[in-house]
Amino acid sequence: MKRNIVAFSQNQHGHWVAELDCYHTLNDAVSPTAQAGNRTVNCLQCDALKFPEGLTAYKKTPTFREASIPKGLRQHHTTKLGTWGLIHVLDGTLTYIHEQEDITPINIKAGETAAVPPCMPHHVHASGTVTFFVEFYKKIP
Ligand SMILES: [Zn+2]
Repeated sequence: MKRNIVAFSQNQHGHWVAELDCYHTLNDAVSPTAQAGNRTVNCLQCDALKFPEGLTAYKKTPTFREASIPKGLRQHHTTKLGTWGLIHVLDGTLTYIHEQEDITPINIKAGETAAVPPCMPHHVHASGTVTFFVEFYKKIP
């Protein structure tokens, strides 16, 4: 998924590290000068649904069951820029589907979690019984 570069830093080896607006970092990025004019990169860590480090939970939804899943979650929707979701399935199975076709739908089972990257269209679907909630995270400076 395309992400904006928000900052550059250099690691101990002098290599450039780009910080992205999804909170992932891109090691061995090209230098800021070479990157000039192109402030977006494709973030493979977002496509892999990799939850970034250093985030803080600030909100969570009520617990939903198969019959009480809000319509908004059953249709394609996104979290805001800077907000990650973490789906916690307590019981049963929840199917988690992305609009981006190269991301395989995931069956999240009881006791498992799955990450929802910012601004990435997705929806959920219950084919049997399920109990789950979603927790929201952001980077709090
Ligand atoms: Zn990312």
